[in-house]
Amino acid sequence: MPNSHITVLGAGFGALSSVRVLRKRGFKGRITVVAPRAELHYLPGTIWIPAGLRTREQLIVPLENFFRRMQVEHVAAQVTGLSDDARTVHTSSGMVQTDGLIVASGGRFIRKLPGIEHAITPCEGIAAAEQIRDRLRTMQQGTIAVGFGANPNEQSAVRGGPMFEFLFGIDEQLRREGRRDRIQLVFFNPSPRPGNRLGDKAVDHLLNEMRRRGIGTHLGHKMVRFETDKVVTEGGEFAADMILFMPGLTGPAWLEQSPLPRSPGGMVAADAHCKVAGFDKVLRGGRQRQLPRPGLDAQAGAHGRPAGRSRRQQPAGRDGRQAGHARLQGGAGVHHRCAGQGHAGVPHRAPQPAAAAVTLDAHGQARLRAALSGAVSLIRQLLT
Ligand SMILES: Cc1cc2nc3c(=O)[nH]c(=O)nc-3n(C[C@H](O)[C@H](O)[C@H](O)COP(=O)(O)OP(=O)(O)OC[C@H]3O[C@@H](n4cnc5c(N)ncnc54)[C@H](O)[C@@H]3O)c2cc1C
Repeated sequence: MPNSHITVLGAGFGALSSVRVLRKRGFKGRITVVAPRAELHYLPGTIWIPAGLRTREQLIVPLENFFRRMQVEHVAAQVTGLSDDARTVHTSSGMVQTDGLIVASGGRFIRKLPGIEHAITPCEGIAAAEQIRDRLRTMQQGTIAVGFGANPNEQSAVRGGPMFEFLFGIDEQLRREGRRDRIQLVFFNPSPRPGNRLGDKAVDHLLNEMRRRGIGTHLGHKMVRFETDKVVTEGGEFAADMILFMPGLTGPAWLEQSPLPRSPGGMVAADAHCKVAGFDKVLRGGRQRQLPRPGLDAQAGAHGRPAGRSRRQQPAGRDGRQAGHARLQGGAGVHHRCAGQGHAGVPHRAPQPAAAAVTLDAHGQARLRAALSGAVSLIRQLLT
């Protein structure tokens, strides 16, 4: 479709990678991006905000130049729905007619648990991480509870890795600041083996490290509710002065106003090539997708990837392997070493930040900071 018009929903890794790949492969037609802001928020970097190692300004990449270079028309709006033939995008600032569609507007956290307003959801973005930073600054004693849940209809729609990163990061920060003996940390999860999609060894490693660091656990009990000062589960309750909780993920709210098919967990349903069944030239990219994929890579299904590329088609990482984060930039030639890679110093197939985070020493931290700065500046160079 040389002169046609493709509309990309969202401006995250999945959306921007799709734009790059389209242009790289010679697509000369119109590309419209519908997203509230011309900004990429570098979410993996938010784990450094509580310790003051990164600020909001350092994690927001402006996209105006990228859009100019890629000849993208940006519609600064929220998608609100789709017409029956998926050729008209309904947005908060009017309709966009299109010949093809790439859906990469991310997932949505399920905020159904009673009292969820008492918890901070770190993965909601920079503001949430700043809230943790500010609460931590004033906390002299008490308990911090850290946990995550899943989508009951799609167990793989979970974002546990960052919560392990926040947990071990806060533990380390409090130790360095000499406050750890007065502030308890408790990790809670409805599964007795949290993170088991990473494999048995990883879970053992995580739980051993929690023990070694004196982090309490409350595992294997269904969540009931949060209160201002406690976490309540079917297996008992415990006091908490600050609760960090990542609920399971589902598809974006606007899907309700669209004809696109949904998976049991509410994501856009698509095949292994990201094609949405029953809709011509409609692809699904980024996080709000569940692709049939074997083994460890189940977790990678939750990460940004350009639409239309199956994992097999992903470019190899710098060292010739399928490194986890090559997928985020998919095909763009960007390779950012994620926090997990920086910790362990080895590339991994799926993000395993927690397993790696626990072995962090001073040298590892320095390498990690360097890797993170490198990643952000590389992304800035490519996008600006
Ligand atoms: C703390 C943390 C650590 C992480 N660490 C890692 C890691 O180590 N490795 C890794 O691979 N991943 C990591 N991730 C996950 C990674 O950041 C996400 O998987 C990735 O951002 C998903 O990209 P996406 O494009 O699918 O969606 P998003 O990044 O969520 O982008 C969605 C885009 O859609 C836009 N949007 C939303 N709603 C609408 C709407 N209605 N209309 C229009 N636009 C809309 C948003 O503004 C945004 O631009 C981490 C995430 C967090 C929070």
